[in-house]
Amino acid sequence: MTRKVKIGKVTIGGGSPIAVQSMTNTKTADVKATVEQIKRLEDTGCGIIRCGIPDMESAIALEAIKRKISIPLVADIHYDYKLAIQALRSGADKIRINPGNIGSEEKVIAVIREAKKHKAAIRIGVNSGSLKQNPAFKLSSTSGNKKADLMVASLMEYIEFFEKEKFFRLVLSLKASDVPTTIDAYKLIAKYRDYPLHIGVTEAGTEFGGIIKSSIGLGILLYEGIGDTMRVSLSAAPEKEVYAAYRILSALNIRSRGVNIISCPTCARTEIDVIKLAHKVEEMTMNVEKPLKIAVMGCSVNGPGEAKEADIGVAGGRGIGLIFKKGVIIKKVPKKDLMKAFSCELDKMLGKSSTKK
Ligand code: SF4
Repeated sequence: MTRKVKIGKVTIGGGSPIAVQSMTNTKTADVKATVEQIKRLEDTGCGIIRCGIPDMESAIALEAIKRKISIPLVADIHYDYKLAIQALRSGADKIRINPGNIGSEEKVIAVIREAKKHKAAIRIGVNSGSLKQNPAFKLSSTSGNKKADLMVASLMEYIEFFEKEKFFRLVLSLKASDVPTTIDAYKLIAKYRDYPLHIGVTEAGTEFGGIIKSSIGLGILLYEGIGDTMRVSLSAAPEKEVYAAYRILSALNIRSRGVNIISCPTCARTEIDVIKLAHKVEEMTMNVEKPLKIAVMGCSVNGPGEAKEADIGVAGGRGIGLIFKKGVIIKKVPKKDLMKAFSCELDKMLGKSSTKK
């Protein structure tokens, strides 16, 4: 069990719901584009948003961004402590730093002082690519994975520095780009401190490969009760990261939001383009908040029965399309009208016109 830390109005740790994060990929100094992207992410269920701060203009822009959004804002800082100080003055609820690249101890202390003044949190993020070779902290227990051990020892050295400065509003992360090292590092740090953990696999890759890596890495950690906030890093639109995070959480029955699509693998009995239909259903239900199971099945013989647990589903029939609820066929329509009829039924279930048509 970790301790609770407040990030703006969101509490992470201590049994709070696992907060899903993402990161903007607009230029942060472009307030309009950044706010628009954050609003879209809020709609998909993103609970905390992080913006990269490459320059002073971006750090200053956070103030205007913060005024227009309703989720906590995190500033991602590298190298320049002055950017961290300005981001905190602009209202960042949390900053993410790697103390190893911020510079002298005095500079880190100046950042800590400013964070205390604004009651902001600090995430100490250690990445496998930027490690101390000889950390002063000596581990009493190890993971058996040298790289993971080095990451934890480096992080512990930083944590002790922050604790010496009486700063405890900390969140920790230890991201490696390979899955076993990420898992080993998080499991080990969880034995040493109870600060909330931000979990993720860094530079996970493209949408397909990245989701696989993140599902395994984050899935194993979450299943073992490790992780208080998560980001699925993908070389894809940030909305996809949020979507993937919820799919991971709901596959583990940890947190359900939105639609769980069940679709059949197709076979010789298939009477409808399941692949196209499943993608269409996925796209039109992306912003649905209510946890719903939706089935897309290829035939009327086995489809509705095999997907009995689905709240609603569509299936192909001879020349027609079917809509069913809990395994019972409720409508038969010409194939060309299937999506329209499905969307109407879905809206009825949601009690509103919330699907993207
Ligand atoms: S639901 Fe029908 S089409 Fe899909 S895999 Fe099963 S038998 Fe084949």
